[in-house]
Amino acid sequence: MGNLGEHMVSVVTESGFQNWRPPAVLGNWVGGAHAVPAAGLRAPVYNPALGEVARELVLSSRDEAAKAVDAARRAFPAWADTPPVKRARVLFSFKQWVEAHHDTLARLITQEHGKTFDDARGEVQRGLEVVEFACGIPHLLKGEFTEQAGGGIDAWSVRQSLGVCVGITPFNFPVMVPMWMFPMAIACGNTFVLKPSERDPSASLLMAEGLKACGLPNGVFNVVQGGQEAVEALIDHPDVSAVSFVGSTPIAKAVHHRASQQGKRVQALGGAKNHLVVMPDADLEQAVDALIGAAYGSAGERCMAISVAVAVGGVADAMVDRLRQRAQAIRVLPGLESGAEMGPLVTQAHLDKVQAYVAAGVQAGASLVVDGRGQRPVGAEKGFFMGPCLFDRVAPEMTIYREEIFGPVLSVVRVPDFEAALALIHSHHYANGVSLFTRDGDTAREFARRVQVGMVGVNIPIPVPMAFHSFGGWKDSLFGEHHIHGPEGVRFYTRYKAITQRWPQGIRSGAEFVMPTMK
Ligand code: NAD
Repeated sequence: MGNLGEHMVSVVTESGFQNWRPPAVLGNWVGGAHAVPAAGLRAPVYNPALGEVARELVLSSRDEAAKAVDAARRAFPAWADTPPVKRARVLFSFKQWVEAHHDTLARLITQEHGKTFDDARGEVQRGLEVVEFACGIPHLLKGEFTEQAGGGIDAWSVRQSLGVCVGITPFNFPVMVPMWMFPMAIACGNTFVLKPSERDPSASLLMAEGLKACGLPNGVFNVVQGGQEAVEALIDHPDVSAVSFVGSTPIAKAVHHRASQQGKRVQALGGAKNHLVVMPDADLEQAVDALIGAAYGSAGERCMAISVAVAVGGVADAMVDRLRQRAQAIRVLPGLESGAEMGPLVTQAHLDKVQAYVAAGVQAGASLVVDGRGQRPVGAEKGFFMGPCLFDRVAPEMTIYREEIFGPVLSVVRVPDFEAALALIHSHHYANGVSLFTRDGDTAREFARRVQVGMVGVNIPIPVPMAFHSFGGWKDSLFGEHHIHGPEGVRFYTRYKAITQRWPQGIRSGAEFVMPTMK
């Protein structure tokens, strides 16, 4: 196959996928088969709990990426022509397949990302819910019809597929974020090329095999492993119609710019700095529970993690005291160990970066109430672990407030009142998620109405919209017009066509030279 001498391997076993193990070298998935280039650049994939290289990953060249696009282009006409109800049946099978392999997928996530197994199960569940939503595609694609739009004229609209769609995804949700994209894209009649994160790529290949086993025709779903070169090759390829990206803001901006310049449809979701406002009338125990889970769950490596607690009025001292006690008690363990509440960070480089932010916070004069640096579980000393960190008296000009840390670091900012809390949130360039804890209905309503942020929670710490709504932030947290999955997903992965029709009947009126109007 090809001048790079690639070879195909299959790890599908007759007994199913429960015992699926990633191959030693993770390659691409092209046209319904593994494609591992024999030569070319490779990168290590770590098990972060052990701090060891677990396997290798192929860094695809432009040519390798083009092979996947070609497979997707060839599969597109037949898939676009497949009735939506038949496309939905494949997704129904895939829904059952994911349910049957829930734990297998979750284990892979924990082994490469580091998050706890229970949290990984939650990730798979949230992805599965998008598959469930996509199963309703025959209904979702129904257009609108106007009988007698004019005399003897009917008008209607349809939404049609785009062609080859590309998805570029981050390390922090290796199953859920791809599932925000590909079930919607393929349900809408597109073919898809996934470029997963190079940090935790194994789940992408298991999902590819699962889709094939569920009857998805070859070439409808493809995977290209790699980094910048593969991403740019996919965006630039003339046969790619649309690009979905989720990752950090600088890359989201660059991807949005590059794809838009070439006239492509693009949605690029970026980073975040999410605030949780605690009003003086809030249930403090409930607010502290919410902050602990939302700040330190998944070691803070969530785009919807709460990284800023905004203490309003006199609530700060009691809140910080409770947060300190709770943060110090969090069980930091390898994600597969029972009782683990927080696992390691994804790589040593990321751990170093997060710890450097903590040092910068101390240097800037913030008060480090809990210092988790250097905390490592016994028996896992080589893993990329740190414990929770809690800063009090953080000021808006500090780097730890301005920048996304993406680790287990919570900053408390003290403000005098509700208006100051709102002004603080609005001064930030990120606007992904936000939350308010209060018992007062007027305050809650005012907050939800006025706050300039894409996803809002009231007494809900992580307001991730369900699959039948859409997910996305504002400002530097999203570039492009469309939020992801849900109704916005259908709009993104289809284009609108309006049809006006008259059948020849009655007396011909001859050519008309003025705009047709209803008199
Ligand atoms: P990242 O931006 O480093 O990587 C995301 C993807 O882009 C990966 O597939 C990566 O291979 C690719 N990439 C990296 N460098 C590139 C380059 N120079 N050119 C082209 N492609 C490149 O992000 P990450 O570290 O994997 O993920 C964490 C980030 O993702 C955080 O900022 C987090 O907030 C964000 N995130 C956002 C959302 C959201 O919905 N807004 C969801 C999850 C994660």
